[in-house]
Amino acid sequence: MFDPIVLARRNIQKLRPYSSARHEFAGTADVYIDANENSMGSPAGGGLNRYPDPLQSDLKKLVATAKGLSADRIFVGNGSDEAIDLLFRVFCEPRRDRALIFPPTYGMYKVAAAINDVAVDEVFLTSEFQLDLPNIIDRLNAETKLVFICSPNNPTGNSIRRDDIVTVLQRAEGLVIVDEAYVDFSVFPSVTRLIDEYPNLVVLQTFSKAWGLAGARVGLAFADERVISLLNRVKPPYNVSRPAQNVAIDALSEPSNIDKWKEEILTERKALKAFLGQLTFVLAVYPSDANFLLVKFTDAAVVYRFLLDRRIVVRDRRSEPLCEGCLRITVGTRHENLLLMNSLTEFAGRTNDAAASKFQQ
Ligand code: PMP
Repeated sequence: MFDPIVLARRNIQKLRPYSSARHEFAGTADVYIDANENSMGSPAGGGLNRYPDPLQSDLKKLVATAKGLSADRIFVGNGSDEAIDLLFRVFCEPRRDRALIFPPTYGMYKVAAAINDVAVDEVFLTSEFQLDLPNIIDRLNAETKLVFICSPNNPTGNSIRRDDIVTVLQRAEGLVIVDEAYVDFSVFPSVTRLIDEYPNLVVLQTFSKAWGLAGARVGLAFADERVISLLNRVKPPYNVSRPAQNVAIDALSEPSNIDKWKEEILTERKALKAFLGQLTFVLAVYPSDANFLLVKFTDAAVVYRFLLDRRIVVRDRRSEPLCEGCLRITVGTRHENLLLMNSLTEFAGRTNDAAASKFQQ
């Protein structure tokens, strides 16, 4: 029987967590002189002289309703990047335990592992950017404490087959983290429902993408309540600021703009994909369930520099495995996408001119 407590590092199992003032007294009172705050006020107003709720109860209530999960299965972090780092700190014994990742994928898994001095095993995705199950099963062992599956995957954009995720959940002795940062753009549902069945599943989501709050830094982890409790014991006491909690609460209370933007992003993604697909110097536009497209060019370096000269920045992913010649392009506003398309049309004209002049010589 899987027990997340046993999986945690020995020192974390024994840890007596810091108990903050707001943690020790969470009720209401008339006079708060227990936390060494500035009782006079805040230059910014909005109650910012007071520490925020360390366990983000109001926000969790709304997330719980939105996701159909109980609040004790929700962790709120300073971005989902905080949850990634905490998972290493809670579960991986440095220089002994290992993590398993499936490149090309989100770069922070490897960086967080390196920061925590944890070795990483890699099994590349297949040419369809799906999990290579036989090799994954081969690489899983008792030291594999964390397995990261990004779905929809960054930078490829596709979702990972649910059945394959379940196979990894069944085979792994450690935690399987399914990073769903881009799930709101996907036609496939979240795997959060699987938490009931698989206590080794951790699902990451974020307010940074579809919810439009990348600047606020609010990320979510959903898991068995014992996993969440371990993360809460190790996180800094006030890890999510009061303004960050408030804007996330506002977004969840009034999600209509978010739905409208999501529709717009999907419409723009389709238009951009169609446009890119007919350019002669584009070799592939990969299927995307996210708010970006991975695009393979005949000469990505030249296109990248050409766009940069026109003050358009895309993400160069050429050095990632299986991403030779690829740039990752985030879906922008209609106006931004038109600027991109105009520049690429200009590039196409120049390439054609160059080809024609070569032909004439
Ligand atoms: N996971 C994936 C797959 C991402 O692409 C990103 C951000 N680029 C994150 C997590 C981190 O998100 P957050 O802003 O919530 O830290």
